[in-house]
Amino acid sequence: MEKKFGLYICTGCGIGEALDIEKLANMGPQLGAAVVKTHEFLCGDQGAQMIKSDIQNEGVNTVAIAACSPRVNFDVFNLPGVITERINLREHVVWSHTPNDEDTQMLAADYIRMGSAKVKKMELPEPHVEDDISRTVLVIGGGITGITAALGVAKAGYEAVIVEKEPQLGGFMNKMYKKLPTSWPFEKVEETGIDAKVQEVTSNPNIKVYTSATVEAIAGQPGKFDVTIGTNGGPVETQIGSVVLATGWKPYDASKLESYGYGQYPNVVTNVMFEEMAKNGQLTRPSDGRPAKNVAFIQCAGQRDENHLPYCSSVCCATSLKQATYVREKDPNAKAYIFYKDMRTPGQYELFYKSAQNDTGIFLTKGNVTNIAEDASNNLLLEVEDTLLGGPLSVSADLLVLATGMVPTTADEAILNLQYRQGPGLPDLELFNGFADSNFICFPYETRRTGVYSAGVVKMPQTIAESVDDATGAALKAIQVIESVAVGRAVHPRAGDETYPEFFLQRCTQCKRCTEECPFGTLDEDEKGTPKPNPNRCRRCGICLGACPERIISFKNYSIDIVASAVKSIDVPGEEENKPRVLAFVCENDAYPAFDMAGINHVTYDPNIRMIPVRCLGSVNTVWVADSLSNGIDGILMIGCKYGDDYQCHFAKGSELASYRMSKVQETLNRLVLESDRVQIIQLAINEYDQIPSIVNGFMEKIQEIGLNPYKGF
Ligand code: SF4
Ligand code: SF4
Repeated sequence: MEKKFGLYICTGCGIGEALDIEKLANMGPQLGAAVVKTHEFLCGDQGAQMIKSDIQNEGVNTVAIAACSPRVNFDVFNLPGVITERINLREHVVWSHTPNDEDTQMLAADYIRMGSAKVKKMELPEPHVEDDISRTVLVIGGGITGITAALGVAKAGYEAVIVEKEPQLGGFMNKMYKKLPTSWPFEKVEETGIDAKVQEVTSNPNIKVYTSATVEAIAGQPGKFDVTIGTNGGPVETQIGSVVLATGWKPYDASKLESYGYGQYPNVVTNVMFEEMAKNGQLTRPSDGRPAKNVAFIQCAGQRDENHLPYCSSVCCATSLKQATYVREKDPNAKAYIFYKDMRTPGQYELFYKSAQNDTGIFLTKGNVTNIAEDASNNLLLEVEDTLLGGPLSVSADLLVLATGMVPTTADEAILNLQYRQGPGLPDLELFNGFADSNFICFPYETRRTGVYSAGVVKMPQTIAESVDDATGAALKAIQVIESVAVGRAVHPRAGDETYPEFFLQRCTQCKRCTEECPFGTLDEDEKGTPKPNPNRCRRCGICLGACPERIISFKNYSIDIVASAVKSIDVPGEEENKPRVLAFVCENDAYPAFDMAGINHVTYDPNIRMIPVRCLGSVNTVWVADSLSNGIDGILMIGCKYGDDYQCHFAKGSELASYRMSKVQETLNRLVLESDRVQIIQLAINEYDQIPSIVNGFMEKIQEIGLNPYKGF
């Protein structure tokens, strides 16, 4: 399309008082603007109307708005069908630099040049939309989490398919006698209510249930997953739109807990076995079938122990309290003894804990069980030290219950069986011990496989009530991804983005960097190694763009050329002016808002920096670094999110990849005979804005020490 470019400069919020606006406006025609206007309140009705009127009446179809941060007023400046770039003169210029100063003016002028250069190269996004999107959600796991997710999906008017490996729905709740209290005063255990829930599912016409079934394969992409379900009657093929993974947990293998006497003494059982006993009506000793009158519980039987499960299973303390009430309910003369490392009963469960404390038949103490022995009558003799009572204790129990922990089903079972180049399961983080939690920053349901949402205990240990909440959230996400891909929009974290990476494959050398580095498994490969995109899996991070040595991957509004044009438009002063220029590639997720926060708090820093927002630090192609240095830029900061296993990167691996790639930039610097210190990677979180002055000013000092770029003026 032929562009008609309008440059609009706001003079409100202190911009007009701190800058020579006339000078900035006069740059417009040279930068290709057919219309240049200023306004004292561009985000007000009149200001916004002025722009819209030029679009409607003057044929303006490309707009640069030099005003506040793009992170605010995005609704006011949302101009459908118009190429739009926001130039941040407020937070990044006048609120963080000295007013009416030559350097501040130069900074503003460069940002206007850079924004204008970008809009001239940008194009309108063309959303990738595919036909025949399925609006059915596959729910794997028919326990309370899966049941709740499926009911949520069905109540919202969508269809759900449940695949459950057991012969009936209900999961672990089928084995439970009672559940923890869910309502005030949080003192009484409650009926599980699972039968009614199962009935609700089986009578819902929008839910199809496969029991004694597993998922054999999931191929394709959100909106168009081809799923093979293995059933007793043979494989069933179906197409679904998204997946809720709700396969829950299994108990920790108690045979590894010999030190607690499990497997050695018949009257040592696990909390799961005890729950089944209660459900079956009798709390009896396995050794002789006599009623258990004195029941001891040992908390953290394997949990929070590097030799077993290093994590807290979160529900075992409340579960033992609940099971102590069973002891008391079945026989008011019976006694329960609970020995714990710490009693962890968060939230309202503290009230349940208090009610157990008030029961004289439930004895609770912190303590280490140092020895367990058995007498001739199969009673268990417990030696307990470091108790709250000050001295050691000896307790004789009819029955010992080990509060064992939860292990996610994903720890060693193939469940999803994704037909992805990058493997059949969810990428695992050591940090999460096999739980399907991706540590996906800012949104807990997201996994690194677009359209697959985990919920319930498979994600992290949690109670039934928490799993129900979790399942509802996952159901909503599963619906959201279907509706998003149906109109070609991305989901978290670039929710709503309509751009999509385009691959100019004629020049692809099959180097496989993009297919290997895409954190979301978007790119499969053909037999030669050419990427085969699955567009609906894409999160639009641009990491493939950063990876590609042939520079053949681009978005309509974010490409090698667009960013390189912005870099080239920077007015680099000659050596004699002694004004260094540092370019910062700034991640739009945390680092860019941190700079906004600095502006809002009027934190000042060196004005010789120029920032380019990037989708992810992983989207920075090394050619931008090389181009910048050849253009006389003195130093480059790459500011992104924390990386490593406990990452904060919004695209999982982006900032880590950037760091790895930049170690390779060394070669480029050597070729240009430039010092490696000219490029520095910084990890910055959104709340660390107060560190910006020391980061920027410290780097400027380093550049002064090294000396200005010898390529200046070439
Ligand atoms: S790297 Fe990012 S932008 Fe590229 S294909 Fe993968 S998800 Fe999409
Ligand atoms: S990184 Fe570029 S050249 Fe390499 S396989 Fe991907 S598209 Fe082809």
